[in-house]
Amino acid sequence: MEVELVAALTGLAGLAIGLATGLAVRVSERAQRVQAPAPPQHALPPGVASVLSVLRSSAVVVDGEDRVLRSSSAARAFGMVSGDRLVVDELVAMARLVRRDGEIRETEIQVGPSRGRRADGRWFQVRVAPLGSHGLVLVLAEDLTDMRRVEAIRRDFVANVSHELKTPVGALSLLAETVEGAADDPEAVRRFSGRMQNEAVRLTNLVQDLMTLSRIQGDEPLPELHPVALDELIVEAIDRSQTKASAKDIEITAGGQHGLKVRADDELLVNAIRNLIDNAVAYSPENTRVVVATRRCEDQHVEITVTDQGIGIPESELERIFERFYRVDPARSRQTGGTGLGLAIVKHVTTKHGGEVTVWSKEGSGSTFTIRLPLLDPVRPPVPAAVRENRDNGREAKP
Ligand code: ADP
Repeated sequence: MEVELVAALTGLAGLAIGLATGLAVRVSERAQRVQAPAPPQHALPPGVASVLSVLRSSAVVVDGEDRVLRSSSAARAFGMVSGDRLVVDELVAMARLVRRDGEIRETEIQVGPSRGRRADGRWFQVRVAPLGSHGLVLVLAEDLTDMRRVEAIRRDFVANVSHELKTPVGALSLLAETVEGAADDPEAVRRFSGRMQNEAVRLTNLVQDLMTLSRIQGDEPLPELHPVALDELIVEAIDRSQTKASAKDIEITAGGQHGLKVRADDELLVNAIRNLIDNAVAYSPENTRVVVATRRCEDQHVEITVTDQGIGIPESELERIFERFYRVDPARSRQTGGTGLGLAIVKHVTTKHGGEVTVWSKEGSGSTFTIRLPLLDPVRPPVPAAVRENRDNGREAKP
């Protein structure tokens, strides 16, 4: 019996020792894992972190094993860094080359969801340089995307303007030759010089529209805004479009609420309304009506609408018609003498006045363009009698 007890106790003791040993090994393993020295890293040289934090460029510092030691939030946001890795292959390769020979390198890269498609992603001018003597490498990336976009817009614009100028200038030169050749035929001379005048008018309109656009496209606010009565402005705009409308027997009428005022550059606003009326006339058949109406909205805005019974605009084109030189039917626009800049001008003029322009249209039925502007001197809601009394007595009304 004693022998059995001793054997059992010995067994238990053995088990306990085994368990304790196992536990001790685990604890020690975990402790080792926790205290395991971090992979060899070199801290940033003193002062570098503060210099990087004031730079506007995206900045990344990688160590000798290509691990990111420091990165700006922009570098992460633009998708150059994920976790502790540079994720743009070109940058990793450049960092290695720079680490190897100490030469500063520069390149342009595209970073984004659809690399390879030039229109997408963001473009960066990148400079990669050694940082200190421990294999650290600094990557600085300057975002070029907006600059490239502006450059592309400018290039397109110059190309468009040149193209638009080429047409009337070419026509003028041809007509001049024809007139010269028809010197003995007064009737032909009269006809061709009439066409020369048309081309000259087209050129003048184009130059005029370009000048207006360049004036209103910038970020600067318009210098001279003053109270303007919409009734007078609309009469003036209709007046300027009247000749073209009469030629097509199109009746233009004004309606809606009277006496509304806005703060405006009157010449620009007349120009915008006239552009809409000119279009309404140009894209409508003969013997139709164009209605210009004003309306006061609940939210202290006014709406000026120009409605026609014309050809309308396909829904798929509605988004683009406010772009410079965009035309649904280029041949028709040229035929009507349009510059392709009218709606771009309307859009910029309304934006400059703190408003917006919208369009409703149905092919074959007609279109309505609406200019919406802040109302001047909006009538405030009536002050309750109790508040008025307290105010008059110099006391604040209790809520
Ligand atoms: P354009 O000088 O060609 O008229 P706009 O910028 O004024 O240039 O207008 C752009 C295009 O929008 C026009 O070419 C035309 O296709 C379309 N458009 C504008 N207004 C109307 C309208 N009232 N009815 C039908 N189409 C219109």
